[in-house]
Amino acid sequence: TSFTDLDLAEPIARALATIGYTTPSPIQAQAIPHLLEGQDLLGIAQTGTGKTAAFALPTLHHIFTHDMDPPKRGARVLVLAPTRELVGQIEKSFRSYGRFMMDLEIAKVTGGVSIARQIKRLVHGNDILVATPGRLIDLLDRGDVRLSGVEVLILDEADQMMDMGFIHALRKIIPLLPKKRQTLFFSATLPPKIRKLADSFLSDPVKVTV
Ligand code: AMP
Repeated sequence: TSFTDLDLAEPIARALATIGYTTPSPIQAQAIPHLLEGQDLLGIAQTGTGKTAAFALPTLHHIFTHDMDPPKRGARVLVLAPTRELVGQIEKSFRSYGRFMMDLEIAKVTGGVSIARQIKRLVHGNDILVATPGRLIDLLDRGDVRLSGVEVLILDEADQMMDMGFIHALRKIIPLLPKKRQTLFFSATLPPKIRKLADSFLSDPVKVTV
């Protein structure tokens, strides 16, 4: 397969051509067609497999084809990741693959940096919000972010989030999202407690292991 077979929206296909990606990696080839159909996904994949594009490309396609304004102080896509570094990488990837999408609004929230600056970026609403669970809880408690308009939830490196003690944050955040949404759950490993967590958030997911 090539990326052209996946029928991604024109600006996304153009970004991939510009960046120089021609062939989807195995996780991309297996996951993207299901994600474009709106299915939930359980992805067992390590860093380096191309998992970021596997979730970013169909998510950008969703935003492009379901043209709507993000809700005030809210987001249409919520990505949760364990560390500030990973949040930064994910945000960069979305910006890169979304470079030709007009008016795409992306914000990130993480600990260790000024909360005031982050709040400013949240006021108008964003297409995509990439966050660490701890900082997101702070913003939720302050009423600076709303999750009732989230259409797609992505959990990246869920096992790492569990190891870092973010389980309580996740259990607080996820019930605030609409039940009717698409959920993508990525983990490098799938021990029973991660499996249980995945089952509690996903609905009839496709499972992809690479
Ligand atoms: P990730 O596993 O998401 O951290 O991605 C690993 C690296 O592979 C990143 O540097 C991506 O830019 C790159 N990459 C992802 N998908 C592709 C692809 N289909 N073709 C070439 N490079 C890719």
